[in-house]
Amino acid sequence: MMLHRQAISSRMTRMLPSFVRSMATTETPLDASKVKIIKTNTPSKAQPNDQLVFGKTMTDHMLTIEWNRGKGWATPEIKPYAPLSLDPSCCVFHYGFELFEGLKAYRTSDDKISMFRPDMNMKRMNKSAARICLPTFESEELIHLIGKLIQEDKHLVPEGTGYSLYVRPTLIGTTNTLGVSVPDKALLFVICSPVGPYYKTGFKAVRLEATDYATRAWPGGVGDKKLGANYAPCILPQLQAAERGYQQNLWLFGPEKYITEVGTMNVFFAFQNKETGKKELVTAPLDGTILEGVTRDSVLALARENLDPNEWEVNERYFSINEVADRAAKGELLEAFGSGTAAVVSPIKEIGWKGKDISVPLLPGEQSGPLTKQLASWIADIQYGRNKHDNWSQIVAELK
Ligand SMILES: *Cc1c(COP(=O)(O)O)cnc(C)c1O
Repeated sequence: MMLHRQAISSRMTRMLPSFVRSMATTETPLDASKVKIIKTNTPSKAQPNDQLVFGKTMTDHMLTIEWNRGKGWATPEIKPYAPLSLDPSCCVFHYGFELFEGLKAYRTSDDKISMFRPDMNMKRMNKSAARICLPTFESEELIHLIGKLIQEDKHLVPEGTGYSLYVRPTLIGTTNTLGVSVPDKALLFVICSPVGPYYKTGFKAVRLEATDYATRAWPGGVGDKKLGANYAPCILPQLQAAERGYQQNLWLFGPEKYITEVGTMNVFFAFQNKETGKKELVTAPLDGTILEGVTRDSVLALARENLDPNEWEVNERYFSINEVADRAAKGELLEAFGSGTAAVVSPIKEIGWKGKDISVPLLPGEQSGPLTKQLASWIADIQYGRNKHDNWSQIVAELK
């Protein structure tokens, strides 16, 4: 871990212009042991599970850490949840100096609270930060601080499969100027929201519109980073697809019409070759246009570890909507699903393309295919502590 952390920070440091680099060496690193905790005087009661709406209710506390070029990271503070006060000229409002993460903490079957693969989110957050000249930080220190934040509000982590605490780390540039330049001030904050299952009554398979009239990400762009700037432009195409009866966009890229992602999730397809009988689970390769999903990585790892290699191939390769349409016509399309932290997996039942609907098979009378269902339960078993996976769960609090 140490090695890895240094590798990131030295690579990031090399990417910065020399005038920034020379100052960076004397900056105070992020230090979780210095945290100052101010507890709320009005702790809230947990809402009943059936009243949780995704991202609407926040917990009682938040974490904030200021950063200054030259000085580095200031004392981390955990304090009552409250509005931020920012100058209207602040660069986050004008030029999009913003990035975020999304991860979850779960109440496990043995009454602990555990975060799922937070190291992956920290690694990705540092990559996003470096890309828009915001400061990077020591991953383990922030994981530690998020753990302390969750401990303060541990009574608000809901219990039950599908229920969890959604954690939203955010980093913004806070320099007050209308000049477009490298921010010399930043604010890292973390807020948390108790959430229920994405689909209240089990899975609900979605209809997608294969979208080639708008592009989510492109080579040399920033589609592989979790920058706020990537999300607002995707809402209009989603509304346009909704007018035609589709819930999400299946984002295509280029003249080949490669399948990239769905909405704000990675996407997987399963095929079976009629001649050889061999099955294949496939997702787009990480070529800089694909967000490096933690769920995507987990699905790939679990599929490679648990599926019979005589029966299944697991591939990261380019594949197009034309391949999907052709193979569906031949009866070779088995399943399709999106993957992401919020819904974990999200089954797909239909894809609108060129005025027709490609239909994706589902289990009889159900809302998903067998592999989708299997992967969802493998992941949930690890998240809720019913099963173990090396280094995937990080305990942050004990409840008993
Ligand atoms: C966050 C996100 C994902 C999923 O990433 P996870 O780490 O699995 O939550 C996929 N695609 C996009 C565009 C995203 O923003």
